Amino acid sequence: MEDKFETNNENNNENEYEEFCYICRRPESVAGKLIRLQPNLCVCPDCMQRTLDSFSKGMNGMPPFSDMMFFPQDGNPTQNGNQKQENPESGDQQDEKAKNGFHNIAGGFPNIQFLNLGEFGMPETPRVKKKKVKKKQVEPVLDIHSIPAPHKIKASLDEYVVGQDQAKKIISVAVYNHYKRIMSKVEEDGVEIEKSNMLMLGPTGSGKTYLVRTLARLLDVPLAITDATALTEAGYVGDDIESVVSKLLAAADNDVEKAEHGIIFIDEIDKIAKKKNSHQRDVSGESVQQGMLKLLEGAEVEVPIGATSKNSFAPMTTVDTSNILFICGGAFPDLEEIVRERLNKSASIGFVSNLKDQYADDENILQQVKTEDIRKFGMIPEFIGRLPVICVLDALSEDMLVRILSEPRNAIIKQYQKLLQLDEVNLQFEEDALYAIARKAKEEKVGARALRSVLEEYMLDIMYEIPKDDNIGTVTITADYIENHGMPRIEMRSVPQLEDKKS
Ligand code: ADP
Repeated sequence: MEDKFETNNENNNENEYEEFCYICRRPESVAGKLIRLQPNLCVCPDCMQRTLDSFSKGMNGMPPFSDMMFFPQDGNPTQNGNQKQENPESGDQQDEKAKNGFHNIAGGFPNIQFLNLGEFGMPETPRVKKKKVKKKQVEPVLDIHSIPAPHKIKASLDEYVVGQDQAKKIISVAVYNHYKRIMSKVEEDGVEIEKSNMLMLGPTGSGKTYLVRTLARLLDVPLAITDATALTEAGYVGDDIESVVSKLLAAADNDVEKAEHGIIFIDEIDKIAKKKNSHQRDVSGESVQQGMLKLLEGAEVEVPIGATSKNSFAPMTTVDTSNILFICGGAFPDLEEIVRERLNKSASIGFVSNLKDQYADDENILQQVKTEDIRKFGMIPEFIGRLPVICVLDALSEDMLVRILSEPRNAIIKQYQKLLQLDEVNLQFEEDALYAIARKAKEEKVGARALRSVLEEYMLDIMYEIPKDDNIGTVTITADYIENHGMPRIEMRSVPQLEDKKS
């Protein structure tokens, strides 16, 4: 029997993919060395042992496995694969049955035929890519293994993210502590540093996703971004809560170890607040918060590889979430009102009471948020407790929008300048024009997201007309052009420049 089983190692010509157990679906890296029964049929030692145990106990009055008789390739039966016995069927009959995919493996079971699935051709099983130790092509700007100091993390973020200084500072310290905690082992003093998951509040388009995305890129850690609105309690229509871990695993190229040091950003977290005055089961609100508790705290979750649903026929693996940094973000639209109410209430008590609503026009009132406000908004206390770091992003002012247009490494204006540079045209923006664009974008109330659409509207004509005329050397966008009172200023090339271009 032994020689029928080839170990998986022998098949190393396709070593890019990892095999998995056909019974329990665990990959080889989890289940241990697999036993190869047929070309596409592998079983892990545990499942094999369990199968053999159930045989040897004897099922439904059948004789134990040790008493079974086998027909090896030569057609002669052996007891338990060793002792040769007399063949009850002729060699021709045996061959005929084997051709049809049937094997009579038990002399003690007259007329019982066993199917050999391998001979019918098993369906192609999905394959799992092996964990690879990849050679990095690009060195990360910040190396998490040498844990960059918070001021270095912030300095790198400054190159991309405009303003939001307080939020960048909080994130830099939280990330520094998080990775320091991972690298440190529990010392003899028994002090275990707790996880510092983050809750990020800020109006839409203020750069929450952008900040997390930039951070993950700088640290070169895998990042999964999900919308909390898509999540529902297990068993209901929608994504299971654990699907966020599957996404992270996919972002880490199915490398479990890498995923366990990654970042999960759950956006629109305010949409899973407890529904007010609801008497029905809240499967996409409070239940999702409850379901997320164990993930946030750190748990071992079984997730399918290469799929987000556990029902799909995909191999499973275990991911430990205790070192994954969870950042939950949301705009919390009515939270401002709750904070304002609390502040006004405390301001109207005592000798120095101020009865006027002094916070009515404060755009950044969210900076004064407290956990009690978030609880009042509809997040359950256990959930808030697992997000101990709270950072608030400011609403973007006109000045900040102008800086976003021109300052970051990948600023939108720099991108347009580069595009026109390819036509050897110099694109300039007057400062007033930048403010006019910022004003228009602010009116749309979607934060920095509106900048691109506003600018695109005015750049369309320029990008259409300019390539028509080789003589154009410089285009200057003026405030008049943005305010629809005039045209951009166009300067022609000098003659030597023109000749250069034509040649
Ligand atoms: P949200 O807060 O809704 O998640 P995003 O992070 O998606 O907003 O921001 C939308 C876009 O606006 C980003 O892709 C980015 O280009 C730009 N942006 C927003 N805030 C900033 C900022 N502070 N600095 C630079 N760009 C920003």
